[in-house]
Amino acid sequence: METMSEKASAIEAIIRDDRQFVGQTTPFGKPFVVAHAEGSRVWSADGRSYLDFIAGMAVNNVGHNHPQVRAAIIAQVERTLHVNVFGKFVIPSQVELARRLAQVTPTGLEQIFFTNSGTEAIEGALKLARKVTHRPGIVAFEGGFHGRTFGALSVSWRDIYRQPFEPLLPGVTFIPYNNLAAAEAAIGGDTGAVIVEPIQGEGGVRVPSDDFLPGLRAICDRQGALLILDEVQTGFGRTGRFFACEHWGVVPDVLVVAKALGGGMPLGGFISRPEVMRTLLDPPLSHMTTFGGHPVSCAAGLASLEILLGEGLVERAERTGEAIRAYFKELAAGWDSIVDVRGKGLLIGIEFQTAELARAFVGRCQDLGVIVSWTVYSGTTVRLAPPLNISEADLQQGLEIFKQALP
Ligand code: PMP
Repeated sequence: METMSEKASAIEAIIRDDRQFVGQTTPFGKPFVVAHAEGSRVWSADGRSYLDFIAGMAVNNVGHNHPQVRAAIIAQVERTLHVNVFGKFVIPSQVELARRLAQVTPTGLEQIFFTNSGTEAIEGALKLARKVTHRPGIVAFEGGFHGRTFGALSVSWRDIYRQPFEPLLPGVTFIPYNNLAAAEAAIGGDTGAVIVEPIQGEGGVRVPSDDFLPGLRAICDRQGALLILDEVQTGFGRTGRFFACEHWGVVPDVLVVAKALGGGMPLGGFISRPEVMRTLLDPPLSHMTTFGGHPVSCAAGLASLEILLGEGLVERAERTGEAIRAYFKELAAGWDSIVDVRGKGLLIGIEFQTAELARAFVGRCQDLGVIVSWTVYSGTTVRLAPPLNISEADLQQGLEIFKQALP
């Protein structure tokens, strides 16, 4: 048996090794070492349990280590791991996931090219739009976030993250989000792609007005530009619809997915109509990947999809999200520190008066055993994104702690 002090020094050693051997891109200390996770809870190596109101940042929509996802992973591991030679083998778990996805995506979007991550899926979507339209221009949005590889960074906002890596992809124009007049002026005959999040995640959980996405769709149609919707964060029931674009009945030309797609395993993809996807056949292998659509990730993704649909988690996300927002709005009425409560389903933004207040709230939540976080571009917005199947008891405990943690 390990003594308490042996355990404490083992934890200290792993934190030290993390700093020494793992590339760091944030100067802030990491609060704890993960031991295990299940459902809506994560346990630290020192034995504390935390309620996870971030869910791997919208990854664990069916909770951590769901038994059906685990069983699907094990069953696939017993068959094969990686067997890919691009274009040579049919991978059954890939095919089955693609077939099931085609039943839940908006009409016509029935072919997926699988990747390993969100940012790679964005790269593929941008290449696809260029290949189809032969046009150089891309219109992207202030506050938009699409990933950290060169193409994705080129269409992501915020100069401090872009400037150090310039020159980026040429031909990208940023316009204000939720502003159709700006879109009308910027999207023209040389625009190949318009890339947008249906609800901005890292931009601070920004929900556009109801005419924005339908208006953007109409402008793209008129100008012959492809509309790429980035649903990496908003997909798979997160916002109370299977895909957020369903809130507005908008069908994009390319739908980009990742995060919750793999049920906790790395998986992403860009989805389009067969006649659009077909352009990547010429020349053969216009796009390819070694690990994208890994059999184990696809098996996990398929299990996760069945849970989302079978347990009615999408509808539950809508109801639960409304209850959480109503709770915070009531708190906000008597609390000056909260200036706005917004979001859809279980993608929720709580806007604090200052970044200091938001930081204090996140810190206190953590001390009291709940994990919440900021968004990449907004220090004043605290984001909540719990698993869609968070139990009523865990939810109530979380809400109670939020009240105690308010600065
Ligand atoms: N698009 C959006 C909307 C995202 O929120 C993210 C990740 N936060 C990405 C793309 C990038 O995904 P990944 O981290 O898997 O590369």
